[in-house]
Amino acid sequence: MSSAITVAGVRVDTRHWIGGERVASAGTFTDHSPIDGGVLGEIARGGPAEAEAAVAAARAAFPAWAATPRAERARILHAIADGVDKRVEELAIVETTDNGALLRSHRHGVMPRVAHNFRFFADWLLKLDHEDFETRGHTNHVTWDPAGPCVLITPWNAPLMLATWKVAPALAAGNTVVLKPAEWSPLTASLLADIAAEAGLPAGVLNVVQGYGSEIGDALTSHPDVRRISFTGSVPTAKRIAASAAANLTPLSLELGGKSPLLVFADADLDLAVDLAVEQFDNAGQVCLAATRILVEETVAEEFTRRFTEKAGTLKQGDPRDEATDIGPNIHPRQLEKIDGFVQRAVAAGARTVVGGHRRDGQYYAPTLLTDVDQDAEIVQEEVFGPVLTLQTFADEEEAVRLANGTRFALAATVATGDPERAERVTGRLVAGTVWVNCFFVRDLRAPFGGSRLSGVGREGGTWSFDFYCDVKNTVTAP
Ligand code: NAD
Repeated sequence: MSSAITVAGVRVDTRHWIGGERVASAGTFTDHSPIDGGVLGEIARGGPAEAEAAVAAARAAFPAWAATPRAERARILHAIADGVDKRVEELAIVETTDNGALLRSHRHGVMPRVAHNFRFFADWLLKLDHEDFETRGHTNHVTWDPAGPCVLITPWNAPLMLATWKVAPALAAGNTVVLKPAEWSPLTASLLADIAAEAGLPAGVLNVVQGYGSEIGDALTSHPDVRRISFTGSVPTAKRIAASAAANLTPLSLELGGKSPLLVFADADLDLAVDLAVEQFDNAGQVCLAATRILVEETVAEEFTRRFTEKAGTLKQGDPRDEATDIGPNIHPRQLEKIDGFVQRAVAAGARTVVGGHRRDGQYYAPTLLTDVDQDAEIVQEEVFGPVLTLQTFADEEEAVRLANGTRFALAATVATGDPERAERVTGRLVAGTVWVNCFFVRDLRAPFGGSRLSGVGREGGTWSFDFYCDVKNTVTAP
């Protein structure tokens, strides 16, 4: 196997990064670009041996990194952020080639956010403090102590953004990390290893391993030296990880799928509601937070559907490197099969196709809206993870809330209404980790992020991240 490939002019090392060195594996797996299905290269395919080596490297590096003063840890994280800023163009084109998401959003939104993840958690670390309090003259002093090696496992839909959302707080907290990116989008994690090394992060503090979840993933999550596992991905994988973590009672953070609702009340600004609905096609529908169930008050359903259809018709689908493109390809032929299977089964069960409902040439799926669907239908209950929305109507607030809360997921919800009192009433009754009112995808890293029910366990963001990645300790001192 060659040790590096060139992707859109950028050199990417295809080996693992363990203990500050590049390490090859005997086996490889093939990485394809969803843009045209072309082969990008052969990537190291790690297994139990590489998992063992990476955890050992993380364990060996832990004491020194944990003892590094906070200000020095923060300085290095800032240097990583600067390194990301310098390489935004390279990171953007490599990630677009690897996972098919829009180049313009990688350039202007995602990669700047990657840098922000490092700066934000570095700065948060420096002000992380708790007011001391007294008990019968004794002081209670709470500290966030480093916990140890962390295993971070991430999906392909926003590879570097989701990886650094975990890597940054874990490192800031004084932990060491083994990151395993998804096998469908392995490349930018390798570039992150280069950037971290150039920024002066000591060897073994960040390790990046490549391979299939069923091979290296299991070995990582069942390892007794691992002190935290943070996972973003699907529910079936989360259950397997939870089972292997149970053997060592390793604390887990799980950020999983969703089937979030967009509630459109008759008093809403209908153009805004239509914009919010069409926005759900972003990233070809491969967004965990996507409000894929559109719930519209009966009296405005016809007008909403007319405006939605008109607006959806203006979306340009095609090469994600083209600045004018709105919707790119889906990640993998297998994912495309899965999406089409959901749609065809829904139609066979009586759903009506309002827009789309079919594949396009290459790895593209037409933006789709289905209606005439029952609440218990598969297409309403299961996450499709493609550009497929359903539309249901409701008669009143009571029914809207019942439908909105009526799945096993509870990641997010969006409410479109012109009535602030209604907004307060409805948001109070919705079960979701994040609720947006007349907006969508506005994220502040100080806020908690996560889901309830099958959408996840725990919250990350701001102090919640440090609560998870640290051993929180209370020291009580006598007067
Ligand atoms: P996935 O569960 O198939 O894979 C995610 C990661 O887990 C990959 O790196 C994979 O290699 C690894 N993995 C697989 N089996 C493993 C095992 N047995 N042990 C350890 N690791 C294993 O998910 P996906 O298809 O890559 O991602 C899509 C899913 O992620 C969707 O359900 C989506 O909603 C969810 N997601 C959630 C969030 C969130 O923040 N809540 C964000 C993005 C995506």
